[in-house]
Amino acid sequence: MTETQIETKVLDGKATAKAIRAEVAEGCASLLERHGIRPGLTVVLVGEDPASSIYVRSKNRAAERAGMTSDIIRLPADASESKVLETVEQLNADASVHGILIQLPLPDGIDASKVIKAIDPDKDVDGFHPVNVGRVNIGLPGFAPCTPAGVIELLKRYQIELSGAHAVVIGRSNIVGKPMAALLLRENCTVTVCHSRTKDLPAVAAQADILIAAVGRLGMVTADFIRPGAAVIDVGIHRVSDEAMVRDLFDDDAKRLATLAEKGAVVAGDVHPAQAANRAGWLTPVPGGVGPLTIAMLLKNTLTAATRSAERA
Ligand code: NAD
Repeated sequence: MTETQIETKVLDGKATAKAIRAEVAEGCASLLERHGIRPGLTVVLVGEDPASSIYVRSKNRAAERAGMTSDIIRLPADASESKVLETVEQLNADASVHGILIQLPLPDGIDASKVIKAIDPDKDVDGFHPVNVGRVNIGLPGFAPCTPAGVIELLKRYQIELSGAHAVVIGRSNIVGKPMAALLLRENCTVTVCHSRTKDLPAVAAQADILIAAVGRLGMVTADFIRPGAAVIDVGIHRVSDEAMVRDLFDDDAKRLATLAEKGAVVAGDVHPAQAANRAGWLTPVPGGVGPLTIAMLLKNTLTAATRSAERA
């Protein structure tokens, strides 16, 4: 090992998600016993995008396994915006539905922001409604988007020091980057948000104690972005089918090459894993890092929504 080589520890999102799901299942059982309420999650899927259908089914199954009732409302790809809005209104009025999720992206011609704004903020378990964005920013109880909320859970459960740490977030999307920055700030991090116009990105990233990559660019975060010992969180998800790329990213790892041969692709993130190894202090693997936490936090938000509704009643 050279001077800067470090034994990188894994932030195991899969195991953490399993623990969160078990806690949610306990919470559901307790809510049923105390209030006779079973949390209900309804997912609205418009159109037949294959990736969306897979996501929706796995959300549905995870909710049922946690002891929730879970429904999928499927609307045709040519459904009108008013039909989608009407569906949302019906779910808002249905007391057995505590969480409403609109699977994105919506087909062309339907204004996603209009649909999201139609959701009752107290049922907006995805945390995308402007009221929840505001609540999260000013520290009121609300729903934070599931992916960045999962990152915070992961960091806390591994006891990574947040207060006073310099966190650098690469990416400023409404779904990941911006809420990530707001949540880190709430945990008393010093937060820098980087984006496509940031100058000298590697040098800024390399100042981070905690580096969050939510860029949507395969393997962009290379060794020069990482301060030795930093905790590195990889939010990116990419399918990689090119063998030379897989070899480069995973340092000729036999297991990944076997997956590539078997399935025709492997999954990788925004962080270059071979370059982050022995440099980052902590690293989320892809797959098995941030990905599994997203659904776990969706369940957690749904349980919270049902609990608040029971307490209001
Ligand atoms: P997005 O495309 O909406 O946003 C990407 C952000 O990165 C933008 O703010 C942009 O300014 C910035 N960016 C783009 N190129 C850049 C560059 N060269 N240098 C610096 N910044 C740059 O993406 P998103 O929805 O935030 O998703 C980011 C990644 O996370 C994607 O790979 C997506 O698939 C993944 N994702 C994963 C989960 C999960 O559950 N793990 C959830 C959501 C998104």
